[in-house]
Formats: sequence, C-alpha cells, structure tokens
Amino acid sequence: MTPDQLLSKSKQYLWLPFTQMKDYERDPLIIESGDGVRLKDIYGNVYLDGNSSLWLNIHGHRKKELDEAIKKQLDKIAHSTLLGAANVPSIILAEKLIQISPQRLKRVFYSDSGAEAVEIAVKMAYQYWQNKGIKEKTKFVTLGNGYHGDTVGTMSVGSIDLYHKVYTSLLFDAFVAPFPSAYHHPSGDEKTAKEEALHSLRQLFSNHHHEIAGMTVESMVQGAGGMNVMPKGYLKEVENLCREFDILFIVDEVATGFGRTGKMFAVEHEGVQPDIMTVAKGLTGGYLPVAATLTTEEVYEAFYGEYEELKTLFHGHSYTGNQLGCAAAIANLELYEKENIVQRVQEKSEYVSQLLEKVSLLEHVGDVRQLGLICGIELVQNKQTKEPYPWEKRVGYQATLKMRELGMITRPLGDVVVFMPPLAASYENLKQMVDILYQGILWATTEYAIEHA
Ligand SMILES: *Cc1c(COP(=O)(O)O)cnc(C)c1O
Repeated sequence: MTPDQLLSKSKQYLWLPFTQMKDYERDPLIIESGDGVRLKDIYGNVYLDGNSSLWLNIHGHRKKELDEAIKKQLDKIAHSTLLGAANVPSIILAEKLIQISPQRLKRVFYSDSGAEAVEIAVKMAYQYWQNKGIKEKTKFVTLGNGYHGDTVGTMSVGSIDLYHKVYTSLLFDAFVAPFPSAYHHPSGDEKTAKEEALHSLRQLFSNHHHEIAGMTVESMVQGAGGMNVMPKGYLKEVENLCREFDILFIVDEVATGFGRTGKMFAVEHEGVQPDIMTVAKGLTGGYLPVAATLTTEEVYEAFYGEYEELKTLFHGHSYTGNQLGCAAAIANLELYEKENIVQRVQEKSEYVSQLLEKVSLLEHVGDVRQLGLICGIELVQNKQTKEPYPWEKRVGYQATLKMRELGMITRPLGDVVVFMPPLAASYENLKQMVDILYQGILWATTEYAIEHA
C-alpha cells in the first residue's frame, strides 16, 4: 500500500482511542517504524518520542535485548492460558517483581493493561472484606482529578469530569477527597494545601470508615489529571490514615513505576508500603501489554480455602500472563540492573530541570511540575492571576501540533503539556526535546493565541 492509500484507509476504517476523529482527519499521523528515541512515519519524517509513546517506553524502540527475548520466547510458545495453569516466564517475572517491590507485597496477579490492574485491585479489595465477613465495607475513596483507567470500575474510582461526567449514572459512587495541588490552591502554598487535604480526608475516614473498603491513589504524581506532584509527606500521611481506619491502601504505580520518577517505584520517595499496588505501562519496557496487581500475603490469604467456601477471585482475561509479554518484561527488568537505569534517571532529571528553567520563564507558562522524568508544563493566559486559557482554544494541543512539525511527538492534558522522554534518552536527546518543547509553547502562546484571541 502506498502512504497515501494508508492515509485514506486510516480515515476510512479506524476509530482511535481518546481521539476526536475530526482532529485526526485534519492532522493525521501514521507511524511506520521506530529506533531508539525516534519514530518514523510512513512519509519518512522522523520525530523524537517526547512522551515515550504515551508514558510507556523505557529503553527506546527496537532495543536489542528486548527484541531477542521475544524472539527466543517465540521459539517455545506465544501464549497458553494462566487460568488454572502457570507458565515459565510468568513465574520468573513474578519473583523479580516481588524482589523489587515494597516488602509487604508478596503476590502477583497478572492482567493486560493498567485499567485492568486497577479494576482487579478494586474487586480484590471489595471481596477481601466480604471474604472476611465484614460485609459493610463496600465503598471506595479516590482523589479529585484522579485517573485509574477507562473501564467502568476504574472510571468509578476516577474523578476527571471531562472523561467521566457523561457516564455518571453508569458508575458506582465513590467518595472523592481533595488533592493537595499547591499551584491551584488559593494560598499557592504546598504545606497549606497538604494540611487541608489531609484534614478533610481524616474527616471523611472518621465518618465513613466502617463502610470503606479501600482508597485508590496515584503514586506521588497524578498523571492524566495534569501531572500534579504531591507535596512531600502527603502520601505517607495518607498511608497512616488508611492504617488507622482499617482501609486498604491501593497505590496505582501504572504511570510512575519502573524508574520513571527516579526510584524503582514512586512509593519509595515516601517509604510507603501499599496493601495493593498496580503496575503496567513501563513493565515490558513499552513493548507488550502486560500489567499486574501486587498484594500482601494477608490479602491473598483471605481468598485461600476450599472451593466450596466460595472465596475464589473469579477474575481473569484471555491473555493474562502472556508468555511473550512476560519474556519482554523479564528482559526489561534485567536491563535495569545492567544499565543502572534508576540512578541515571535521577541524574537526567536534574539536567531536565535545568533545561526547563528557560521554559518556566516564558510569559504564559504558569507552572512547571516535575518528578524524575515526568514533566507537566501548565500554560495560562495570565501568569500573575493564573487565569487559564479558554479551554476551547486548545492552546496546549496547538503547542503539541507545532512540536510535531518541529520533530517531536507528545500529547497534552488540556493546557498542560506533557514531557515524558524514554528513560534511555541521552543528554543530547533531552536537550533537543526541550528545545522543541520551548519553541512549540512559545508559538502557541504568542502567535497562535494572539491570532485566535
Ligand atoms: C495510564 C494509566 C492507567 C491506565 O492504564 P492503561 O494501560 O492505559 O489501561 C491507570 N492508572 C494510571 C495512573 C495511568 O497513568
């Protein structure tokens, strides 16, 4: 097929996720191949992968060790079911995951995406209390602006109006506690935002703990909600409150796991020990869809018994524990040791924060938020008053379209521009990427914004 045929057929047959197809028709993009931190489209244009192919990619594309691990596994078998049977790579990977995870986590339940991992966490927490005979603990708490995936269960513990509001009557009710966002708090002060948020969480727990099964939180950074970094000490305090009120603490490391924030898991920033932890995105180095829900022996034991006791976790997917995916994940984790990935993320993120200083000085950059190699740059109409742009103007989206033209791909979250390079990006790559980021933002907040005022 010629590139032009592919283009027209893509418009004829595809319906892309999280995409208004009218936008796609206007500004289509078809990727043909990738190499290292670069992607190439069907017309031969090359782009830096500025958001790690949606927050997944670790070592770049076509990493030799990962390619080989998959080929080697393919010579044995591509897939057999994990329902009632194990497979070799799923065991090896489970042990590795437990070794690198917070100490209390001892069991691995596989699935295929981040949303499934959280969906399973929610069902696990719910049934945990049922199996223990504490029948009234059936509700969940989540944070304002939280995001845990797009299935009905994970939308129910999510709280982003733009994505979730239309489904309201379809979702189960969850308590929503405020997120301590320093930039958006009237005081602009981290400590005040934190204390207020903790105070209202304590109040919620005091009044309702008898009916609360678990609380879901993203780890250290709210991703889809706008790359909001938690104030120091906050996550630890949430853990303490969950323990005090006997509420399962479910930490979502889907976006933050595997070195992204400069620790293997972001909970390590606070020495937090979840009861349930979900991982996905970076688990296979961004290669294949494998996710996992990790939990403690205590939770596991509540499900263990004779079949007739009906304590089984009746959940699973056709491709759960897929061998090709697990083989890629094993090779991925081996590279962390061999290439000292996590330490290097810490060093690179310091370099990136220096580079971003120039971006933060731009007239319409309200806030630059960063933890490790997660960066969110919030664009505002008025830097002093923090007045946002009218959302329909889509200044963030325009900035990323300009970046594409300049040779980098990323996606915004409203007017928060996301910068999330592959962890393996070199210093030179990072410099090039931030230069494009700067140019794209400058153009969208001046030329474009003025023309469309
Ligand atoms: C991306 C994401 C999910 C959903 O993962 P999918 O693999 O896209 O289903 C869940 N939680 C967080 C924090 C995420 O960033």
